[in-house]
Amino acid sequence: MSDNQLEDMIIIGSGPAGLTCAIYAARANLKPLMIEGEEAGGQLMVTTDVENFPGFEHGVTGPNLVATMRSQAERFGTRFITRNVTKVDFSSRPFKVFIGQTQYLAKTVVISTGASAKYLGLESERKYMNRGVSACATCDGAFFKNVEVAVVGGGDTAMEEANFLTRFASTVHLIHRRDSFRASKIMVDRALANPKIKVHYNKEVVEVLGDEKGVNGLMLKDTVTGATERHQFQGLFLAIGHKPNTDVFKEWLRLDETGYIKTEKGSTYTNIPGVFAAGDVQDHVYRQAITAAGSGCMASIDAERWLEANP
Ligand code: NDP
Repeated sequence: MSDNQLEDMIIIGSGPAGLTCAIYAARANLKPLMIEGEEAGGQLMVTTDVENFPGFEHGVTGPNLVATMRSQAERFGTRFITRNVTKVDFSSRPFKVFIGQTQYLAKTVVISTGASAKYLGLESERKYMNRGVSACATCDGAFFKNVEVAVVGGGDTAMEEANFLTRFASTVHLIHRRDSFRASKIMVDRALANPKIKVHYNKEVVEVLGDEKGVNGLMLKDTVTGATERHQFQGLFLAIGHKPNTDVFKEWLRLDETGYIKTEKGSTYTNIPGVFAAGDVQDHVYRQAITAAGSGCMASIDAERWLEANP
């Protein structure tokens, strides 16, 4: 089955990068078709209050921010399909994007499928999501003033988030499953030198404890002795890595060693002319809604100019 209409632009993914791209592209009369995914909106949908997105003096919830951007994109003519892309074929132009057996054709494709934070996979972790459990210290740290929180992980993100959280929390407990860190030396040294950070080596979280108010503790297991111990913490921050959502594209696009799409420096160009990438799917450093939105704007402008040069 094929939808034979040739689209100027198909945007895959509907977080702040995709939606900003859609707003710009729609206003440039490209009538973008957004395939928003079955879990539309991306990581903002699991974020409670967003207090650092410029323009919202009193904050906004993640879902409301997404809904507002989506309405704005729709107002200028973006069309939406709430399904997941199952396959793409970038071997020739026009590009082919598939949802099951249905094929869509496009002159340009913008990929903004984001990245997903990794979680431990505990049922209790899921239960307290956004009620003490978070995978983003920059987003949620300020809600944990003068309480004890835990950060799980041993990479650069864990060091960075632990340091950041000491601005708010009384003590940050850094919990790592081994006795040495994967993070770079400078980041480890900084964390170890911070008097508000207490390191727990060889420990893993086996259960998140809480009540109707949210998280109030963690059950930690010693990975060497097997002994378990209960600790009182009011927050749990996961910093065990992110997984970029690039499985569908890996056959066609150049990815870095951790699976993120490689874009040309200072632009959203991928290795395939006419295919662009924006947001967390190509950024493992900043990972903010506002930086994703900014790169979505860049993708629209890049695609628009590319279309003008390659009609
Ligand atoms: P990493 O993959 O580097 O580290 C993940 C950490 O989480 C590891 O220590 C790992 O343990 C631990 N971990 C993984 N799964 C589990 C689990 N199920 N239970 C407990 N612990 C687990 O991810 P990061 O997000 O830290 O970094 C990603 C990339 O981004 C890196 O290249 C990093 O250098 C970069 N980065 C750079 C920054 C900077 O330069 N300012 C800041 C942040 C990130 P183990 O070590 O045992 O495998």
